[in-house]
Amino acid sequence: MERSTRQRRAILHALAQSGRPLRPIEILELGQKEVPGLGLTTVYRNIRQMTADGSLVRVYYPGQPALFELPTGKFLPHFICRSCQQVYYFEEEAPDVPYDPPANFRIESQEVVFYGHCSDCP
Ligand SMILES: [Zn+2]
Repeated sequence: MERSTRQRRAILHALAQSGRPLRPIEILELGQKEVPGLGLTTVYRNIRQMTADGSLVRVYYPGQPALFELPTGKFLPHFICRSCQQVYYFEEEAPDVPYDPPANFRIESQEVVFYGHCSDCP
């Protein structure tokens, strides 16, 4: 199999396994279990390409490092733990919040973020 295909697959598997958005370094650590020679530069290059072609989604919150997750096509809420700062997503879709923006404003997307303490940080 072509090398870049293996690398991409390892990245996709890492994200599928984790069940939460991951930092590139976390993707690297999980991906190396599948492709031992995987390096951070390669991970960054693949992430950039995969985000551009829509096979990954970048999740960005102020004060958080850039995180990446698999596109779900659903509107899933995220959760940020106030103790460990880890970002999770919940499987249940968030309710669509109807909102009429002021004139000449166009809303393209919305996010639902919950804050609290994760199951590792009671
Ligand atoms: Zn936590």
